[in-house]
Amino acid sequence: MKGRKCPVCGKEVNGRSDKRFCSDECRIFYNNSLGRTRRARNRKQLSAIRSNIMELERANARFLLRTLSWISKVFRILCSFKKVSNERE
Ligand SMILES: [Zn+2]
Repeated sequence: MKGRKCPVCGKEVNGRSDKRFCSDECRIFYNNSLGRTRRARNRKQLSAIRSNIMELERANARFLLRTLSWISKVFRILCSFKKVSNERE
């Protein structure tokens, strides 16, 4: 097959029909750069997961604060009922 070009350097590829690169150097360079992009993608996904976790923790903290303030409101209302009933006695 003629006219195949090495995806790294653009040189013509000679040899077996399934050969993709002109040399071992180009093949290794290509595979290394694939690993680099994969690692970069993993880093990106990890940082997205981390920021999701942080957002969930913030949401949890907000929920806890809201629940605590609700409980304290209910508690204050209950205490005021008790005061009223004490004053009646
Ligand atoms: Zn090449």
